[in-house]
Amino acid sequence: MKIAMIGAGYVGLVSGACLSDFGHDIVCVDTSAEKIAGLNVGRLPIYEPGLEALITQNVAAGHLSFTTDLAAAMDGADAIFIAVGTPSRRGDGHADLTYVYAAARDIARALTGPAVICTKSTVPVGTNREVGRIIAETNPQADFDIASNPEFLREGAAIGDFMRPDRVVVGAESDRARRVMADIYRPLSLRDTPILYTGLESAEMIKYAANAFLATKITFINEIAALCEKVGADVKEVANGMGRDGRIGSKFLHAGPGYGGSCFPKDTRALARIGQEHSSPMAITETVIAVNEAVKRRMVEKIRDLLGGSFNGRRVAVLGVTFKPETDDMREAPSLTVVPALVGGGAEVRVADPLGRREGAELLPGVSWHDDAYDAAQGADAVVVLTEWNAFRALDLTQLASVMRTPAMADLRNVYSPDSLKAAGFRSVGVGRFHPD
Ligand code: NAD
Repeated sequence: MKIAMIGAGYVGLVSGACLSDFGHDIVCVDTSAEKIAGLNVGRLPIYEPGLEALITQNVAAGHLSFTTDLAAAMDGADAIFIAVGTPSRRGDGHADLTYVYAAARDIARALTGPAVICTKSTVPVGTNREVGRIIAETNPQADFDIASNPEFLREGAAIGDFMRPDRVVVGAESDRARRVMADIYRPLSLRDTPILYTGLESAEMIKYAANAFLATKITFINEIAALCEKVGADVKEVANGMGRDGRIGSKFLHAGPGYGGSCFPKDTRALARIGQEHSSPMAITETVIAVNEAVKRRMVEKIRDLLGGSFNGRRVAVLGVTFKPETDDMREAPSLTVVPALVGGGAEVRVADPLGRREGAELLPGVSWHDDAYDAAQGADAVVVLTEWNAFRALDLTQLASVMRTPAMADLRNVYSPDSLKAAGFRSVGVGRFHPD
């Protein structure tokens, strides 16, 4: 199959590289000439484990290429995927569909032969139908079908998720669209991956419902964690006991500093907005959004308490600023709430993060950047573990304590046992569990 992938971001690049690895011919298109120029010399605009090797391999095999020229990429394509961003619209939380609709108009003008136009971006209910309307209006001669193919990959584990997904969702209304999508995903169906064919609206809803549910699960355990602290329970024990119930499952039950990232915050807001627009309030999701904001603010107060009530003049080492490990993505990371609160309160903030500096340098003004945890912790009054990178999961606590002015740790990912911290001389706080003085 010949496929054009519009948008060479996290989703477009990973999907393009993986589909080319299936043996399809993929051309990735992006409006950013800088991104495409970089990709054409082997320089990736993002970090994703394994992606560089996969791209190099498939470019060399002649299955994958990059261009800014949409018409050339679409020439002879059986399918055209839209994988552009759908950020929150400023003010009302609605998904901003500007990029999707611009891509639809560009596709319509360049479309010559028959093709399936397939949206991978996360889009509100009704968007795929509108994409179809825009294409038909812009190019009345266009011969095309619409498909909705939401993506469920996670940054940091994206290639494995794409290659071995729990399911593939395809919303389509014509046999031709289903046939083309079946051909594209045949390598997965041969491996017994369920391909779920639905209507367009159901496919669009599945993505938002799944993300809102996962955000709810995280937020639920974060709220339970706050209560655990009050009643003397340990949220790790509670989550373990809950998660072993097959009806609940153990994933997404790790208490922490609140969810962030490029998807959960914007997708929960978009679902809440869709509910409002259809007079069918998403009360649970709206509450999750509010509670998650409160969770992030609670983390700031934890650190303030650990420092004796004030940040002013204190030196704080922050370990990890990306929204999760194994990614350089900083979008809506909890660090964007915590670090400015520290800096604003008069703390001197020293940051270590294996990949966060590239984006973080601009997003977190007023901090200094350090190569590793021990360097960041020099002379510090407290260390804050904010992202559980491997590099921060097995620190030599005695060595860490020895370089600090006063050994204190806010372990916001519950990486270290309270007893091991005490044994190394730390005063500490975690999330949802008791730490001895
Ligand atoms: P991104 O911002 O990393 O990438 C989007 C890319 O599209 C950018 O490179 C941009 O330059 C390009 N672009 C915008 N308009 C264009 C146009 N008209 N023609 C060509 N290129 C254009 O975004 P992302 O994280 O890859 O997300 C894309 C979509 O996938 C979003 O809807 C998101 O919600 C969804 N999604 C993301 C993830 C994730 O983990 N990042 C997971 C599942 C779904």
